[in-house]
Amino acid sequence: MSLDALAFGAHADDVEMVCGGTLIKLAAMGYRTGVVALTRGETGTRGSAEIRAREFDAAAEVMGLAVHKMLDIPDGRIEVTWENKLKVIAEIRAHRPRLVFAPYWTDRHPDHENASQLVRAAAYLAGLQKIETGREAFRPVKVIFCQGRFEFAPSFVVDISEVHDRKLAAIRAYASQFHGPDEPVPEPGPGETLIGRPGFLGRIEARDRRFGAQIGVEFGEPFLVREALRVDDPAAFFGPEYRWTIP
Ligand SMILES: [Zn+2]
Repeated sequence: MSLDALAFGAHADDVEMVCGGTLIKLAAMGYRTGVVALTRGETGTRGSAEIRAREFDAAAEVMGLAVHKMLDIPDGRIEVTWENKLKVIAEIRAHRPRLVFAPYWTDRHPDHENASQLVRAAAYLAGLQKIETGREAFRPVKVIFCQGRFEFAPSFVVDISEVHDRKLAAIRAYASQFHGPDEPVPEPGPGETLIGRPGFLGRIEARDRRFGAQIGVEFGEPFLVREALRVDDPAAFFGPEYRWTIP
């Protein structure tokens, strides 16, 4: 059975922070959603590959995913190679998602930048019949980029107000990645992680509030598409169901 949306992250816990609310909302509306982590997270400062795999399962449960899977690309060494493109192509052809979510192409972590390039290339290449992987060619309708550390002007913002509690619950599933109450505050630098600093949930909430404010709702997640969005009927697109509050 094909998926409606498949989100790729470099590491387990990436996707939950950047598009977790949107995936939860889609699943609640009856769409089939999935997450593929390109690595097992074995190089992560906190936890271990085994612990992170269990946390990945728990987060998938909270998000109501139909599919969740970890690939075996080495953590910290995601390279844009043909071999890795074939791995991503294989996932896209196996799950046939209409929408693919990918990390934004500019990021602090090289794995995130390379994951962005890999997923975008693979989404195109998966549609070429002569690239043989043992499965039928398939090209997603759209690759949608998620905002990490570096900000972009979003193409659109998804209202996640109703599911924000569940988004935070999915992130909390990654207990090994949290800052402990008695732990010293890490120095900014290579050992620092986004959610390993105290107060990180507050920062995620602040960000989601900020983008929610841009569309006049409590919480929102921003997304970017490279192409102009095609609208065949603007009167219908911005019709009575379109709820826009002027910020
Ligand atoms: Zn990551």
